[in-house]
Amino acid sequence: MEFSEILSKIALRIRQSLRLENILATTVAEVRQWLNSDRVFIYRFNEDWSGVVVVESVDQPQWSMINRVVADPCFQEKWIEPYRNGRIASVEDIHNGEVTPCYVEFLEEYQVQANLVVPILLSTDLFQKEDSVESVPDTELWGLLIAHECSRTRSWQPIEIDFLQKLATQVAIAIKQAILFEQLQQSNDALSESKSDLELKVRERTQELESVNRKLIALNQELTLSNQELEQFADIVSHDLREPLRMVTSFTQLLAQKYAGQLDEGADQIIGFAVDGATRMEELINDLLTYSRVGSSKKPLELVSTDQALDQAISNLHLVIQENQVQIVREPLPEIVGDATQLIQLWQNLIDNAIKYQKNESSPSNSPKIEIGVTSELQQHLFWVKDNGIGIDPKHGDRIFQIFQRLHTRQEYPGTGTGLAICHKIVERHFGKIWMESKLGEGAVFYFTIPF
Ligand code: ADP
Repeated sequence: MEFSEILSKIALRIRQSLRLENILATTVAEVRQWLNSDRVFIYRFNEDWSGVVVVESVDQPQWSMINRVVADPCFQEKWIEPYRNGRIASVEDIHNGEVTPCYVEFLEEYQVQANLVVPILLSTDLFQKEDSVESVPDTELWGLLIAHECSRTRSWQPIEIDFLQKLATQVAIAIKQAILFEQLQQSNDALSESKSDLELKVRERTQELESVNRKLIALNQELTLSNQELEQFADIVSHDLREPLRMVTSFTQLLAQKYAGQLDEGADQIIGFAVDGATRMEELINDLLTYSRVGSSKKPLELVSTDQALDQAISNLHLVIQENQVQIVREPLPEIVGDATQLIQLWQNLIDNAIKYQKNESSPSNSPKIEIGVTSELQQHLFWVKDNGIGIDPKHGDRIFQIFQRLHTRQEYPGTGTGLAICHKIVERHFGKIWMESKLGEGAVFYFTIPF
C-alpha cells in the first residue's frame, strides 16, 4: 500500500469520531502501531505552557506517562516559538552530544533514548470572520504528538517524520471539529434548557390561570347560592308578612270608614296616615314577592308569542290607557322561547311607566304616545318601547334598574321602585339585556334583547 494511502486510511479512522477522547486515543494507537515505537502520547498545553499527558499508547506498562504533568525546564524559552512555526524535533540518541545536559536529564527521567516531537497546530481561521483582512491564518499551539523509544536509540526516517507531521495536521483538523461539535452541543443544550424553562413558565402560568379560574367558579357558585338564599328569604318574609299586613290594612280601613268625622280632625288624619302606610307596605311587599319569584320560577321556557303577551299586557292596562287617552303604535312581534307570564309582566311594567311618566301639561301635541317595535338582528331580537314623556337623565341609566331605586317622590309619581328591577330580572332570565336611552324632557326608549 502506498504511503499516502496508508496515511489517508489512518486519518479517516481518526476523523471518524467527533469526540476528542476518541480522536486522541485512535491517534496514539495508530501512530505507535505504524512507527512501532515504545511510547506514543499527546501532550496538551495549558495556558501558562505547562501541560499534561492526556493520552498515550505504551508497549510496557512501566513506561506509562499518562496524566503526568510534565515540567520541562528547558522547554519554555527555547521551544515555544519553533513549535509554533511548525518545527519538528527529533533526537536519535539523547547521549550523542547534540542535546543540552538539562534536556538529557529531563528525558532520562522518562527512560527516553530517542524521540520524535511534532506540534499539533490548530488553525484559528475557522473562527475568523469571512470579511477578515488577515491573509495568513493564525495558528494555536494546542499540544505535541510525541513518539519515544525507551528500549533503544532510533534513527528516524524522513518518511516517518513526514508521516507524523502530516498526521498531526489531520489530528489538528479532527480536534477542531470536535471543539466545534462540543460548542454546538453546548448551545443545543442551552437551547433545550431555555426551551424547557419556557415550557415550565407556560405550565406555571397555566396552573395559575386554572387556579384563578377555579376560584372564580367557586365565587360564582357562592354568589348564585347567596342570591338564591336572598330570593328565598325575600320570598318567605314577604309571603309571611302579607297576611298580618292585610289584616292591618283592612282594620285601619274599617276604622277609617266607621269613625270618619266622628272623632276630631287630628284623629281622622292619623287614621288616614295609618291606612296610607299599611296600603303602601302591602304594595311594597307584593312587588318584592313578584321580584323574588322571577328568579325562582321553575316554569320551563317554551315557544311563546311576544305579540300575544303584548295584547294581554295592553288588555290588563286598558283602564289606564283609556283614562289617559294613550295612543299605542305597534308592529307585529315575533315568537320567542320564553315564559309567557313574565313577558306579559315585562310589557306591562314598561307600558305602565311610559304612561305614568308623561308630561303634566296636556295639549294635543303632548298626548301620550307609545311606540313598540322590534328588529331581528343576527342572533337576537331587539325590542323597544318608546314614549314621549318626561324622559330620564342618562346618568341614572343603571340606577333605575335596581330594586327600590326611584327618581321621584311618591307625591310626584306613585310607585315602589321595583318595576324596572323586575323587567331586568325577566330579561336576564331570558338571556338578554335591557337598557334605556333618553334625555331629560325628551321621552325615553327602553330596549331589551332576547337571543334566538
Ligand atoms: P317606579 O315606577 O315604581 O318608581 P320603576 O322601577 O318602574 O319604579 O322605575 C324606576 C324609576 O325610573 C322611576 O322612579 C322613574 O323615575 C324612572 N322611569 C321609569 N320609566 C320611566 C319612563 N318611561 N320615563 C321616565 N322615567 C322613567
